[in-house]
Amino acid sequence: MKAVRIHRFGGPEVMQYEDVPTPTPGPGQVLVKLAAAGVNYIDVYQRTGLYPNPLPYTLGLEGAGTVVAVGPEVTLFKEGDRVAYTGIPGSYAEYVVAPEARLVRLPDELDFKVGAGAMLQGMTAHYLAYSTYPLKPGDTCLIHAAAGGVGLLLVQMAKQCGARVIGTVSTEEKAALAREAGADEVILYTQQDFEAEVKRLTNGKGVNVVYDSVGKTTFEKSLNCLAPLGYMVLYGQSSGPVPPFDPAILNAKGSLFLTRPSLFHYIADRASLEKRAGDVLGWIASGKLKLRMEHTFPLAEAAEAHRQLEGRRTTGKVLLLP
Ligand code: NDP
Repeated sequence: MKAVRIHRFGGPEVMQYEDVPTPTPGPGQVLVKLAAAGVNYIDVYQRTGLYPNPLPYTLGLEGAGTVVAVGPEVTLFKEGDRVAYTGIPGSYAEYVVAPEARLVRLPDELDFKVGAGAMLQGMTAHYLAYSTYPLKPGDTCLIHAAAGGVGLLLVQMAKQCGARVIGTVSTEEKAALAREAGADEVILYTQQDFEAEVKRLTNGKGVNVVYDSVGKTTFEKSLNCLAPLGYMVLYGQSSGPVPPFDPAILNAKGSLFLTRPSLFHYIADRASLEKRAGDVLGWIASGKLKLRMEHTFPLAEAAEAHRQLEGRRTTGKVLLLP
């Protein structure tokens, strides 16, 4: 089968579209013929070695397709089932072997692109808005990179929870998308001082929670945007990692809370996985949640997909089609 692998860490040029043996499912595993794979920022961290894995490594942590073979002791799925998943390495490929316990059934009314596009970023937005800091009416939140993959979904879910949403984006085009998703206020953080803008928009009070996936370039000012007892939810680092940090700063800035969460802890057990995936896929099926999928590339052009994602040239979901 074809797969996109890396043999060393580096820029998009280290991604190789090559022939590899088709894997065979072992006990509790199924073989999925992939119809689409999701591209996520974590794939960039894995490619550069910020999050290192043993090499060679097949990139990709999200996909959807059809079960074409089952290993021994498989009880939940059978050949022909349509499935979606996240958290299993090797999605930039034609086939993946997956532990059945990490798969969810893809509802008939949703196509494979939605399955591959909704799982990682959708469940991330879900745990951020509903679990890490459960938003409620009367809250104000700040969402950085509001027109990104997670961003557009998180804006919609924050509105579902009844919160006031302030989003940041780099361009006017992205600002329009964030507003369309429901953002009440949008700041062009490449042109305006977002800290000053947030203070102005909240009459100096600050926000209850900042969802910060940008990291290095936004972290410090994000802390200054929080009201006392506010929550700093640092869930990514698209601009680079945040340098070492003195916890006493949290005291000085108003007894703040800081967390650095990861999706994989919020879907660790089957019940959480089914609940979050069920909500996200169900909301998309009913039209309550919109998934933007404007950026689709053939699997062989995965490196170009990475260039565009890192170059801030994408909005919403980026997909690969084998
Ligand atoms: P996005 O589609 O949001 O792409 C990243 C966006 O970050 C860009 O479009 C850009 O938006 C913004 N950005 C700001 N500064 C930079 C920079 N210097 N270089 C590149 N991008 C920059 O990606 P994803 O939705 O896949 O992921 C968003 C973030 O969420 C990532 O940091 C990712 O690691 C994190 N994440 C964390 C998870 C977790 O559980 N902890 C799970 C899923 C994602 P703009 O141009 O508007 O500034």
